[in-house]
Amino acid sequence: MNTGIEERLAEVRARMAEASRKAGRTPEATELVAVTKTHPPEALQEALAAGQTVFGENRVQEARAKMPLVSSRARWHFIGRLQKNKVRQALPIFEMLHSIDSLELARDVQRIAEEDGQRPRVLLEVNVAGEGSKIGFKPAALETELETLIAEMPRLEVLGLMALPPFSPKAEDSRRYFALLRTLRDALQRELNVGLPELSMGMSGDYEVAIEEGATLVRVGTAIFGERKGKTWRPVGEPGDI
Ligand SMILES: *Cc1c(COP(=O)(O)O)cnc(C)c1O
Repeated sequence: MNTGIEERLAEVRARMAEASRKAGRTPEATELVAVTKTHPPEALQEALAAGQTVFGENRVQEARAKMPLVSSRARWHFIGRLQKNKVRQALPIFEMLHSIDSLELARDVQRIAEEDGQRPRVLLEVNVAGEGSKIGFKPAALETELETLIAEMPRLEVLGLMALPPFSPKAEDSRRYFALLRTLRDALQRELNVGLPELSMGMSGDYEVAIEEGATLVRVGTAIFGERKGKTWRPVGEPGDI
């Protein structure tokens, strides 16, 4: 069956390489996180066969249901809203958590990581658009909050920042938010004398712009796997909520 996943992956990789070249960056400096939420394990297997190994999921239960059905070569990143009661399940199975969105969540992760002997690698999600309702750290408070995090939550390995700008059909509209995330990161590195190498930014509509602005992780779903239909994927015959 030709689902086109291999071809679309090749296209995304080619565009990533071109955006890197344009920006004077090496293609290896940006990792593609293939976002597989709602898609079945077969889609992941196809992507694996085409050389993709890093997958992004936004629900712990959905990822857990897929994992046994996908080659153990797959590596998993968590990119969704992490609920407190899912932290313990998430820590051993995700190589990186992109979406630590508050000090409160960070404290829960710290406590559970301490209890379970985990050392989670995390990114801090920043509310780059400053919208009141949106989740994430506020840019103005980030320096103080990161200081607290470093001092009080030693289990967390903070590797960088993540952003999800407001949706726009025009990729260029995201540029200033990506630039803001990079500027914030640079300032934090300087002021706190810490290394924050990772910038997780850019999705199907704007990953090339994100790479031009310094993304080290782009999270791309639709451009590889096509439109999402259901809300979640669950194994056949399994009711209940995932
Ligand atoms: C779904 C999702 C993506 C991928 O979005 P596409 O537009 O399908 O590429 C990226 N990041 C997050 C946080 C998501 O939830």
